[in-house]
Amino acid sequence: MRDFSANHDWLSINTATIRKQAGAEVPLARIIDQCAAQGIPAISPWRDQVHAAGLDATARQLKAHGIGLSGYCRGGFYTGADAAARSAALDDNRRAIDEAKTLGAPCLVLVVGALPGALEGRAQYKDIGRARNEVRDGIAASLEYAKSVGMPLAIEPLHPMQAADRACVNTLEHALDLCDELDAGRSGALGVALDIYHVWWDPKLQQQIARAGRERLLAYHVCDWLTPTRDLLSDRGMMGDGVVELRKIRGWVEAAGFAGYSEVEIFSNLDWWQRSGEATLAVCIDRHRQVV
Ligand code: ZN
Repeated sequence: MRDFSANHDWLSINTATIRKQAGAEVPLARIIDQCAAQGIPAISPWRDQVHAAGLDATARQLKAHGIGLSGYCRGGFYTGADAAARSAALDDNRRAIDEAKTLGAPCLVLVVGALPGALEGRAQYKDIGRARNEVRDGIAASLEYAKSVGMPLAIEPLHPMQAADRACVNTLEHALDLCDELDAGRSGALGVALDIYHVWWDPKLQQQIARAGRERLLAYHVCDWLTPTRDLLSDRGMMGDGVVELRKIRGWVEAAGFAGYSEVEIFSNLDWWQRSGEATLAVCIDRHRQVV
């Protein structure tokens, strides 16, 4: 297992972690400068932030700082009540794949989608089995294009509390079943983004990480699970502040062959988004060395 205690060479910052600072949204260009100032070697930016900053300008800024990517957030949301909605989703995923390519991302992270409209409180249907079929078909279609341009797709299983509105793939086992169905040859074109916030509780976690292996483990996201959790979406904890056995899980991931970045992804409206970006990054670096 790699020793992270001496430096932060394998730390990546998901830009959601400091997208708000002192309670206010911060532009991506500033976030990148702040990461560069603290010697952070990689980030994973969100599409809305990149669109606001400009795709080419972001690519140039990253290159100028020598900052790489650990992923691009995000594609997915494949489900739709009608064919037009599903087709629009495929078009959008194609654009996301192209953006990921321009930015030099190692993978496009997929939050696959769930009951269409549920995120806005108006689910257009209730058949989660149908949603799962639409997700499978959507990933299959995206995969063809992604393969043609060489951009791996990483399915991120989300915690079951988000099964209705964000992703109807909720366990690593389910994500890997999809990978096996759509990419039986383990080509490297399709895998998973393993986010400990979503999967830490899973009794099959160790077994499924071993099953995933190096070819399927495309990204590794860390934070911590707070007790109590005060907000289902944006009360993620800083590593070390919750109940997740981070070292143990990284041991399993590395035993399976993963040797990439530990990407810190913290949505924290109540706490970290109220602090300065510099302060949050300093704590990320410290905890990466001490507890990740
Ligand atoms: Zn994640």
